[in-house]
Amino acid sequence: MTPHLKDQLGRPLRDLRLSVTDRCNFRCTYCMPRDVFDREFEFLDSGELLSFEEITRIVGIMTSLGVRKVRITGGEPLLRRELEKLVAMLFALPGVEDLTLTTNASLLARKAGLLKEAGLSRVTVSLDSLDDEVFRRMNDTGFPVARVLTGIEAAIDAGFDPIKVNVVVRRGLNDHGIVDMARRFRGTCVIPRFIEYMDVGSTNGWRLDDVVPAGAILSRIDAEFPLEPIESRYHGEVARRYRYRDGAGEIGVIASVTRPFCGTCTRLRISSDGRLFTCLFGSRSEDLRERVRSGGGDEDIARFIAGMWGRREDRYSELRSGETQSGSRVEMSQIGG
Ligand code: SAM
Ligand code: SF4
Ligand code: SF4
Repeated sequence: MTPHLKDQLGRPLRDLRLSVTDRCNFRCTYCMPRDVFDREFEFLDSGELLSFEEITRIVGIMTSLGVRKVRITGGEPLLRRELEKLVAMLFALPGVEDLTLTTNASLLARKAGLLKEAGLSRVTVSLDSLDDEVFRRMNDTGFPVARVLTGIEAAIDAGFDPIKVNVVVRRGLNDHGIVDMARRFRGTCVIPRFIEYMDVGSTNGWRLDDVVPAGAILSRIDAEFPLEPIESRYHGEVARRYRYRDGAGEIGVIASVTRPFCGTCTRLRISSDGRLFTCLFGSRSEDLRERVRSGGGDEDIARFIAGMWGRREDRYSELRSGETQSGSRVEMSQIGG
């Protein structure tokens, strides 16, 4: 079908963020605050989730529309049973050139080898602090940092190289640990990427004051370990890259609040129950599962997705205004970042 599919702002469809579960064993305060995601919270039933076969079919159709990169996410994707089977099924699709996973690494030590064998290209681990007490407070389940570090080691042993580590920075909570994080991974194959805390969803009580701007993050690291900017690896890379002047590796910053990158945003998102979102800050979605389950053919489904992409004009981060901040928005734990 249409290989030159573009949205209203001329952006092609290239990346898919694929959420495979809405559940998580962490309660990171900025993502799934415990008072909202509590015992009463109604997560999806297994029958509501897209099956591995349905996902593979949808991704196959999306490759005909231009998708080349697929990032598996959640909730916590490794909670989805036998995820490595899905990885193998997606790896076998000819159009998928890059297949990656974002995880909190709580189950990575058990899974890294299986995922690598199944064809996963890369792993990104979320780790907000090396200080055990701060980390436990941020994941709000008392999960120890040592087990995340063991998961990272297992991924390295399984042959993943490099490994990116996402660090969401919140003022007054973990920003004093930025330089420690950089120090810890200097000279290794792990690339820390510092992320400005975002106003995703409507449950985390985000305030602009909580954001530490990427410029400030860089100055703190640069003062200790001098940095210089390097070229992005590809058009539309969300992280800005810097290397240590002494050759000890690189870091990245994702400045979604202070330097939005909507102009090059080629990402489509799908929730685990098959709703399509054209923006992380989306309040509207289209139900793809219904189309798939009611017997729609590949051409129909392709036309449906192409139509949605063709109408897309999202640039929330660029517009971030009083108007766009009102109303209820999809939660990060449903569409996975
Ligand atoms: N559970 C997995 C994990 O934590 O890696 C995958 C899903 S999680 C929603 C994906 C990424 O979104 C994580 O790196 C997380 O830190 C990030 N994230 C969640 N809420 C965020 C927020 N409000 N601002 C910035 N990043 C956020
Ligand atoms: Fe779970 Fe990831 Fe959200 Fe933390 S950021 S609550 S690990 S989905
Ligand atoms: Fe893409 Fe929406 Fe984020 Fe802009 S705000 S970069 S359009 S997901």
